[in-house]
Order: sequence, then structure tokens, then C-alpha cells
Amino acid sequence: MNETFVRESFLQERADSKIRCNVCERRCLILSGGKGWCRTRENRAGRLVTLIYGAISSMAANPIEKKPFYHFYPGSAAFTAGSWSCNFGCPWCQNFDISKTAPPPQGQYLSPQRFVELTEGTGCQGTSISFNEPTLSLEWSLDVFRLARSRGLYNTFVTNGYMTAEALSLLIEAGLDAMNVDVKGDATVVAKYCKGIDVEKVWAACKLARLRGVHVEITTLVVPTVNDSDSTLHGIAEHIVTGLGGMSPGT
Ligand code: SF4
Repeated sequence: MNETFVRESFLQERADSKIRCNVCERRCLILSGGKGWCRTRENRAGRLVTLIYGAISSMAANPIEKKPFYHFYPGSAAFTAGSWSCNFGCPWCQNFDISKTAPPPQGQYLSPQRFVELTEGTGCQGTSISFNEPTLSLEWSLDVFRLARSRGLYNTFVTNGYMTAEALSLLIEAGLDAMNVDVKGDATVVAKYCKGIDVEKVWAACKLARLRGVHVEITTLVVPTVNDSDSTLHGIAEHIVTGLGGMSPGT
């Protein structure tokens, strides 16, 4: 185990002889010595730790449209980093080489300070945590967001939207400005292919984010024969209109 990346995990609670992780809606119950579903959090003698604080698998200065965000600071660039693993199990993942890789990673350690320096040094207007599921990098993201906001930079997440309301609140308080949520299909598709995920909890996170003033965009990667039926795509559109209040003026 590479101890460089180990930090106390946020949002943990004792549950009898186990620890519950409340970072994402899997809310794993983890035995001593065990790890959560995502393999990034480990119960060490009754304390939960994250194994990926500052563990960077990939990093790049990208146009904001590549995140993708189409209605948030168009024409700007976001300095983007990702880590390892995921809390979903989608078989079609485009970033499978990092999302299906369990820590301990072979990646480099990057402090939040250095990440923000690189953001400014590359002429970017903001940050983005992306590539793998950013919720798993909660603790590092919070430190990045606070620092970036204090420097006048924006902060974004490209996410599957399965963070808990508690985690989302922490992110918003730290300076999350926008998130792009990948809604992968209807309830049946998401439960089957993403391995036991409740898509209604994704929509709930989107709704909460909007209510708290976060800019939200929805993406769906259309996978032929999996989530390309009219009913699935109409259902997603219906959720956007009725649950999220449709599109913002000018979009
Ligand atoms: S982040 Fe999610 S998948 Fe990972 S240990 Fe916590 S609840 Fe489980």
C-alpha cells in the first residue's frame, strides 16, 4: 500500500462493528480490514481512510466544451485531473483503464496547492475533477475547490451523480460551481449495467444541486441496444423538464 495517498475519510459513521461510508449512495458497510465497493476506502481498525488523496492518474488543460459543458464559461479552459476506480460498474466505460483499476495506484501525488498553481500557470479559468468518478476524490476535491475559489477560479465536477446529499453539500460549500452528470439510462438499465445503482438518487442529486444554485448539465452516452430506446430517452428528457425545471434561459 502506498501511504502517500492515505487520509482520513470524510462522512464515515460507526455501525456496530462496521463503518458506514456516506460519500456515495452505495453507503457501504465496511468490516475492519475491508474496503468499500469502489476499493478507494478502507476500514483500518475502526477508522475509514481514503487511499487516493492526491493520487492522479491523468491531467490535462482542456477546453470546457470537452468536459463537456456547453453553457458554462464557453470558450474557457479547465485544468482537469482524475484519479482511479469508480463506484459504478458500467461495461462500456470509455476510461476503463483508470476506472476499473483499483488503488493503490502507480500515479503521482499532486497537492491541491500544486494543482491550483498549474491551473493558473496554464492559463485556465477553472478546475475540473473528471476522467474517473470524482466523488471518490471527495477530500482532495474539497481542498482544491476552496483554494481555487479563493483565487477567483471556477470549479467543476464531471460525475455520475451518485454522491450523497451530505457529500454534495460539502462540495457546494467548498466552491463547486457546475457539474455535468452522466445519466446512463432508465432505472432498469442503470440497475442492471451499472451494478445495483438507483437512478432516482442520481436525479435527486441533480435536483439538489440546482436548488443550491449549481449549474447542472446532463449527458447521456447512447449505447446501441442498451439505452437507445425511445422510452428511455424520452424518460430522461421528461426528468429534465419536470424534475429539474427544464433548460435555463438562453440554452
Ligand atoms: S465511496 Fe461509495 S462505493 Fe466507495 S466505499 Fe464509499 S459508499 Fe462505498
